[in-house]
Amino acid sequence: MTRAKRVAAEMRAKGLEAMVITHPADVRWVSGFTGSNAAVALVGGRGRLFTDGRYTAQAKEEVQGLAVTIATKPVAQEACAWLEKAGARICGFVSAVTSVVDLEAMKTAISGKTRRGFFRPAPGIVSRLREVKDDVEIGAMRRAALLGCRVYDEMLGVIEAGMTEIEVAAELEYRARKAGAEAMSFDTIVASGVRGSLPHGRATGKRLARGEMVTLDFGVILGGYCSDMTRTVYLNRSARFSPLEAEQKRAFDAVSEAQIAAVSAVRSGVSCAEVDEAARGFLRAAGFEKEFSHSTGHGVGLEIHESPRVGAKQAQKLEPGMVITIEPGVYVAGKYGIRIEDTVLVMEKGCEVLTPSVKSWMEL
Ligand code: ZN
Ligand code: ZN
Repeated sequence: MTRAKRVAAEMRAKGLEAMVITHPADVRWVSGFTGSNAAVALVGGRGRLFTDGRYTAQAKEEVQGLAVTIATKPVAQEACAWLEKAGARICGFVSAVTSVVDLEAMKTAISGKTRRGFFRPAPGIVSRLREVKDDVEIGAMRRAALLGCRVYDEMLGVIEAGMTEIEVAAELEYRARKAGAEAMSFDTIVASGVRGSLPHGRATGKRLARGEMVTLDFGVILGGYCSDMTRTVYLNRSARFSPLEAEQKRAFDAVSEAQIAAVSAVRSGVSCAEVDEAARGFLRAAGFEKEFSHSTGHGVGLEIHESPRVGAKQAQKLEPGMVITIEPGVYVAGKYGIRIEDTVLVMEKGCEVLTPSVKSWMEL
């Protein structure tokens, strides 16, 4: 069954007669189209992709299972006008990714009588379907993750005290691109020493110093799919640890064990909350509950952050084929931060770690 047909089946199950899809990652997943400007309209058993004249040849090459219209007006408006003409009177749109401005513009495409009540916020049907990856997607994600691991392994021979965080990020990204990455999944995070306590500290001009922990969080895109991994290494100063270094080592060991516990908890049928608790419970027992200030992980795929969210109170159950991250961390304001992150493929019994780079204590 084509993906558009799978979306149509879900729409039917939810009593939704028509739907407009404008989010680029959703459009790509449904149609195969990778251009930056497109909308997909689905009604009854029919579907059509709207893009503009720049993409005529590309759409012909890429789009699968849908008719294509080269639009002269904004694509979302043409898609909605087509749905109305096809007889739709209620049309779902994904409220989580549609701006108020875009919705107002789509409304202008619908004639006066029909406009009222035409658009209805729809549950994330496509984002839900995207959670479970097929074999082709899993292959792409494996390759992206392994490329990330190769680059990380190379970086272990590059990182040294005196480099700035930006230099580390530049070396890493250069190697990733040379190895074939289409892009980075997000701005590479290099956070050393005190800056490590910022969970999302982007690389700055700060120089790495001995005695510091350095957190690298990065991903590459290959075949459209994102990888995501984090490692924290220690820049060795001397044979004997200072009190701060000893504290860092203790925190690292706690994060490491929490991360391994959460990875071990992953398998089909387990809830996201249970996986989160496997990491969080461990850090709580080790006295780091307050220092672990974010969720344990997230889905990853065409986008770096997708559903499901692997957090406390998330009752959603894991299914085979989901790809999620496991990334507990400890952040001590003004001192240091530590995070270890793997991307894993959920399986019937357990999971496959897609990012097998060494994650134990590493002194450079
Ligand atoms: Zn990450
Ligand atoms: Zn992540």
